[in-house]
Amino acid sequence: MTFTSRKAAKIACRRRFPNEKLNGYPCPVVENGWHAGHLAPAVRAGAVSRGDWYKDRGKTTTKGIA
Ligand SMILES: [Zn+2]
Repeated sequence: MTFTSRKAAKIACRRRFPNEKLNGYPCPVVENGWHAGHLAPAVRAGAVSRGDWYKDRGKTTTKGIA
């Protein structure tokens, strides 16, 4: 599912998963599209920046992540 803003993505995601730690991030496929989901463990650990993580994932997926 793609949202039109980071805020909308997080709100929708939080409604479904109220107790999860969520991260809004730009869709790697749809311009101006947004998703929300869990922060990748590697990002949480500080090994990879959010930007690099999602940029790399965007190369390997053809569809949205969330
Ligand atoms: Zn997407």
